[in-house]
Amino acid sequence: VSADVVVAGSGAAGLVAALTAAAGGARVTLLEKADTIGGTSAVSGGRLWVPANGRPGNEGDTIRAAREYLNGVFDERYGEMTDTFLAGAAPMTEFVERHTPHRFAVCPHYPDYHPAKPGATLGGRCLDMHPLDTRELHPRLAEVRRPPGYVPMTHAEWEAWRYPAYFDDDLLRHRRENRIETNGVALTSALLHGVLDAGVIVQTGATIEDVRRVSVDRRISGGLRITVDGETRDVGALILATGGFDWDSARRKEFLPSPVAGLGGPPSLTGDGLTIAESLGAATGNLGDGWWMPMMAVPGETIDGERFCRGLVRERGAPKQVVVNEAGRRFVDEALPYNEIGKAMHRRDADGGYPNGIAYLVFDAGFHRRYPLPGILPGQPVPDWVPAADSPRALASRIGVDPDGLQATLDNWNAMCPHGVDEEFGRGGNPYDRYYGDARVTPNPTMAPIDEGPYYAVRMLSGSAGTKGGPVTDVDARVLDRDGEPVPGLYAAGNTTAFWTADGYPGPGSTLAIGMTFGHRAARAALESG
Ligand SMILES: Cc1cc2nc3c(=O)[nH]c(=O)nc-3n(C[C@H](O)[C@H](O)[C@H](O)COP(=O)(O)OP(=O)(O)OC[C@H]3O[C@@H](n4cnc5c(N)ncnc54)[C@H](O)[C@@H]3O)c2cc1C
Repeated sequence: VSADVVVAGSGAAGLVAALTAAAGGARVTLLEKADTIGGTSAVSGGRLWVPANGRPGNEGDTIRAAREYLNGVFDERYGEMTDTFLAGAAPMTEFVERHTPHRFAVCPHYPDYHPAKPGATLGGRCLDMHPLDTRELHPRLAEVRRPPGYVPMTHAEWEAWRYPAYFDDDLLRHRRENRIETNGVALTSALLHGVLDAGVIVQTGATIEDVRRVSVDRRISGGLRITVDGETRDVGALILATGGFDWDSARRKEFLPSPVAGLGGPPSLTGDGLTIAESLGAATGNLGDGWWMPMMAVPGETIDGERFCRGLVRERGAPKQVVVNEAGRRFVDEALPYNEIGKAMHRRDADGGYPNGIAYLVFDAGFHRRYPLPGILPGQPVPDWVPAADSPRALASRIGVDPDGLQATLDNWNAMCPHGVDEEFGRGGNPYDRYYGDARVTPNPTMAPIDEGPYYAVRMLSGSAGTKGGPVTDVDARVLDRDGEPVPGLYAAGNTTAFWTADGYPGPGSTLAIGMTFGHRAARAALESG
């Protein structure tokens, strides 16, 4: 197969790139290393952070307000990239709706992650989706991966139901039986349908091994010779969308904070795009950062044979739990956005150690009656793998935490709860924290005493929803070499790339929105250069 455009990686960034190139008239091949389609995108929430999206629920939002909000959240040195993202995100979503069955739905109450910053909104920028009925769609949608613990529920339904006791089980059963999808499964499925419909050749189990520069004259110029599973072909443009280097243990050790241990993406994320780009002389950046997300491992849950970890996104806002380090001390407002929790877990002490690298979420029987955790459902017996004890001190001894420290922490916490003021870390003091609280609990929906035995703890891992270092790209997603010049024919988008955003995470859906916007731009630039 000879193709004008080859896209490596079938996550959302790669699928949008392939769709854009095919819709623009190119012959496109999409190569996916794993046997299933969708990468981390398929196991994700599938939500996109798109300011000024022009949809009902986001009225009055402007690019200008979003730009003000992003000042200081993203690295100002790369303001041009921020402007390009803001200008391109909403048109990208409209393109996706024109070319796929995906239909976005505004989350009108989902706040930005720094709600006190000028330009922030308390809802409207995050786009979820309407459920996707895949029964009449392309049969290859069966190849889209499904994460352990996947519940086909929209964000609006979660907002309405909140806790498992209120879930509409009949509706969810109907969805499961009829392949009606939500979350990243819906996003990936809809994009895959559009891609196949547009004539893209999609190959799974196909790994790019080598890329060389050659001078070929294709309709889209560039001239790269790629080797895929021993077979060589010349392509006009190669778009790298191979995700992060999460599962490359050598790079993880070299670049990431050592506590990072929870990985949500598949083991095929070994930084191949970065390796390829480096071999072609690309400049690299932001290698030490990730989209941090505290995680939990449920024993037995795997992804392509490796340990799968589930994100702790909503649970930390519930009352009747705190997170402590090995000293038994709290170290952060537990209800903060996940990226901020990661930063707190990576904080160094004067000796260069990570005092919060090992952390436990401690909860009581009252929490277990009401609120879910991955693999631990309210109203069902607490699984054997969850450490339990009749007193906080005994629990601390079981998990290797300082008993006096934990007892003092819970005494202090319980004393603060009736007033609803977290004097240590201000939990529940902002709209984001309260969004994930329990409105039935007053005066602070995130605070209630941990005072009902048995007491339980689960290990909260420092995790990553994807690394965000890689080859440096420009506003057209062209990979740049060390002199700042584009590497001919080479583009990159998504977690493969160096995110100019540095350690910033502005709101729910930022990573997919940015990856897809630049995947779209990469393909357009490839088409224009042809
Ligand atoms: C639990 C969880 C929830 C999340 N929820 C959200 C959310 O709601 N919104 C949001 O914005 N972000 C979310 N994220 C983060 C988001 O999923 C990722 O940042 C995003 O999916 C990355 O997309 P990508 O296209 O860059 O890479 P991926 O989706 O990871 O896809 C990369 C693909 O490339 C393939 N590949 C690797 N090497 C090669 C090769 N050599 N040749 C061919 N193919 C290759 C991989 O197998 C993989 O399929 C979440 C993450 C997690 C873990």
